[in-house]
Amino acid sequence: MKFAVTSRGDDLSNDLQKRIKEQLMKHGLVFNQHEPELVITIGGDGTLLQAFHDYAKRLEETAFVGIHTGHLGFYADWVPSEVDQLIDDIVHKPFQVVEYPLLEVIIHHNQDEGERHLALNESTIKGLGGSIVSNVEIKGDTFEVFRGDGLCISTPSGSTAYNKALGGAILHPSLASIQISEMASINNRVYRTIGSPLVLPKHHVCLLRPLNEVEVQVTIDHYTLEYRHIHSLQCRVADERIRFARYRSFPFWKRVKESFIRE
Ligand code: NAP
Repeated sequence: MKFAVTSRGDDLSNDLQKRIKEQLMKHGLVFNQHEPELVITIGGDGTLLQAFHDYAKRLEETAFVGIHTGHLGFYADWVPSEVDQLIDDIVHKPFQVVEYPLLEVIIHHNQDEGERHLALNESTIKGLGGSIVSNVEIKGDTFEVFRGDGLCISTPSGSTAYNKALGGAILHPSLASIQISEMASINNRVYRTIGSPLVLPKHHVCLLRPLNEVEVQVTIDHYTLEYRHIHSLQCRVADERIRFARYRSFPFWKRVKESFIRE
């Protein structure tokens, strides 16, 4: 099997990266940074997010497994003390694949085809230097006109990240859906928004169309893009999915509990 190992870059993660690479090669696995079947990330969820974007063009051929060298992660759910066990499992066990939904974002500048992006956590749209006023269309119909700091559209596995800080719900990743949550909406007699996070199923497309002359900032996970103007931001559940290599069970709700309630 071809594998790659990525590191957050701190000493502990780099040491583990070296050790895992050497051990797996000693057991006959092939180190291949360009076309890996398994990507082992060492660091945190941010390290796995980066690896996802690095290998986004070959999601069908690549599975991910994350080791966290900081606090427990949602994607990085192995700890350094389990590394020998993980190496043994990788060498001796075929892994089970668990797939999570992704978000497809298409940024349209005019009536063009648009720039397509995939997000593992979320995409956000904000006004730069002022509130954004945006038409929110769901499945072809205007739902509301939003005015405020911005909107966050997250995946189920990203629902524990920025979305959670915005008061969004935590969604189980088996639900192929996207969630729209508001950032400081202005609500008065002129502007009225729903105020609650919305969860859309796979076949519903959400189109955000800025109406005012504000410059916009669009984020795709940890990447930030800035535009003088966009025509629209189109979001839906992507056809692609991320594949995680599972060697042992660690249920999602247990990870939520251990991350946010107690270890
Ligand atoms: P960062 O600002 O360095 O770290 C953001 C934090 O979010 C890190 O603690 C990271 O965990 C954690 N995180 C990432 N994905 C997560 C997930 N699915 N569930 C729970 N926690 C998660 O930024 P970054 O490392 O480049 O990550 C970018 C992400 O930051 C964005 O996708 C967004 O979700 C998040 N963010 C959150 C807020 C907020 O909560 N107010 C604001 C902006 C952005 P690790 O330490 O394990 O890497």
